[in-house]
Amino acid sequence: MRKKIVNKFVLILLTFTILFALYELYNSRTYGINSSLNKAISVSELVKNGLTTHMINGNTHQRDVFLNSISHVQNIKELWVVRGDNVINQYGEPFKNEYPRDEIDKKVLKNGKMEFIVSDYLEKEPTIRVTIPYKAVTNGSTDCLKCHDVKFGDTLGAISLVLDISNLRELGMKTIYMLSILTLLLLIIVYPLLNKILHKYFDVIEKLDENIAQAVNGKFMPLKANAQDEKEISSLVNGYNNLISKLDETFIAIDNKLKGLTGHIAIRGAVNPIEDANMIVDNLSNIFQFKKAIELDETKDDIYARLGQILNNKFKLNHFTIVEVNHKLETMDIVFKSGELYFCSKELETNPELCRAARTKTDVTSLEYHNSCPYFLSKSKYHYCIETKLSNDISLILNFVLETKEELETIHQNVSFIKSYITEAAPNIEVKLLLKALKESAFKDSLTGLYNRKFLDEHLKKLLPQLDREHKKMAVLMLDMDHFKAVNDEYGHDIGDLALKELARVLLSNIRESDIVVRFGGEEFIVMLVGIESEAEALKVAEKLRLKVSQNEIKVYENTTISKTISIGMAIYPDNSRSIDSILKYADIALYEAKRKGRNRVIEFSQEQLTGVDLF
Ligand code: GH3
Ligand code: MG
Ligand code: MG
Repeated sequence: MRKKIVNKFVLILLTFTILFALYELYNSRTYGINSSLNKAISVSELVKNGLTTHMINGNTHQRDVFLNSISHVQNIKELWVVRGDNVINQYGEPFKNEYPRDEIDKKVLKNGKMEFIVSDYLEKEPTIRVTIPYKAVTNGSTDCLKCHDVKFGDTLGAISLVLDISNLRELGMKTIYMLSILTLLLLIIVYPLLNKILHKYFDVIEKLDENIAQAVNGKFMPLKANAQDEKEISSLVNGYNNLISKLDETFIAIDNKLKGLTGHIAIRGAVNPIEDANMIVDNLSNIFQFKKAIELDETKDDIYARLGQILNNKFKLNHFTIVEVNHKLETMDIVFKSGELYFCSKELETNPELCRAARTKTDVTSLEYHNSCPYFLSKSKYHYCIETKLSNDISLILNFVLETKEELETIHQNVSFIKSYITEAAPNIEVKLLLKALKESAFKDSLTGLYNRKFLDEHLKKLLPQLDREHKKMAVLMLDMDHFKAVNDEYGHDIGDLALKELARVLLSNIRESDIVVRFGGEEFIVMLVGIESEAEALKVAEKLRLKVSQNEIKVYENTTISKTISIGMAIYPDNSRSIDSILKYADIALYEAKRKGRNRVIEFSQEQLTGVDLF
């Protein structure tokens, strides 16, 4: 930059000098021509007077001597006289050297006006060729009209001269040389002087330039101020230093606040801190919007779907799975899936301990080791598993599947933002989980973990219309433990509780997933066999249950086990009735019949059982 400014100054000075020299050249030429013309006019006056005197005195024959003497005057190269037509007509043909020599002579004789022509000014000996008309006059002693038959002002002839103007040109050239030398001297003196005055400004500007380039990269460096600096420089340096220290403080403050908000993100030292800060603020604003939106979401699935959308749209991630890990129940449920592929082994679903991220509660990625997780099945792809705790028992794992290492790096850069979204969503998801658990507990029996009567009422409202739509049957088995009171009496209430839990376990492990077991009351249970084909099939299941229960050994003391039997009454919906209350009643009647007939048996309801039974 310094060089540029100095070069510009030199260029301006040179241009100015050249323009001035050209102007001077033009001026010297004009001056040379004008002074030569004046000289020519003076000489021609002298010639006219001399010739007239020669004529009046009658010694015209001596005029060549006269002309010859004048032509020796300095700078006159040639001098001749031309006779005009008026004189030729009166006095005859001219002497041989008095004929017009060129077009200029002829023109002047014709027009009666002075003409001149200048040779190339830059040639070795520049000349000016002038022809001045010789006109008839009547003044004082001279009266041309006395001797010539002409009118006043008529052209009698012309006087032509060739004048050397090289000395005038030399004068002009000398001025130009002087000017050039002066310019050179000016440059030699002014250049270092200028440099000395400007170098302080140049130094500051150059340092400013460097420091601003560094500031763009997040390095805010102050400039050193010198006590002897000019006032303007000190003010510039102080102003810049103030700005830089303010920027530095602001970025440190932003950095610290962002650390609290988004984790590790450090914008200082980033490639472009200003762009980075902009990106972070943008993300924070999006996270804030997200937080506001999920507060209105009804279910946790809505929240997961929204999180999925953010990952799709904002982070451009398309292959991932959101997994809810329940460490207490030892389950891993896929709650959101983007893309068709899930690359984790099925084994994980029932055994979260196998999942490295779930077990270690840390992120597991193939950043350093490609095959860091043995349960990630696609060896050609990369994975990035983010683990976030939602509550004491539940955590979320976001399993990202990536095609390239570059995609893996991109996710790594964004990981703190992705986690911020999960952290924001965590309390809302936890609330939804708690609500769900609360709702479930209201429908469950705390001793056996089976559904309770309240659930039965709620569930039947949905189940019966579905059965009707699909034209399916349902068998309702009413169960009661035989002589259960005796267990309580003999072994105590705890063993009685244990017997009930064991009964629940045996029942659950011997029915289909679609069947439902409900603890109906004290030691009475209902098993609903949903969608059975026939009464015979239902009887078969009931028999199986009865047998399995009777075969189950309940440990009451060390080395002491007991076995209990159950009685079962069975009614079929809609065969026995379309009213569920009647079905329950009929199953109860059948159970009563089973007890009556000696217990440990299955009795299906029949109309005959109604006779003799007091329904109300
Ligand atoms: P059976 O049904 O064969 O006619 O004889 P039983 O001895 O089973 O007679 P009953 O059905 O009348 O007895 C019910 C007993 O179950 C009464 C009550 O003390 C006991 N019981 C009810 N709920 C619980 C419970 O939650 N825990 C325990 N330990 N006992 C319960
Ligand atoms: Mg009972
Ligand atoms: Mg009983």
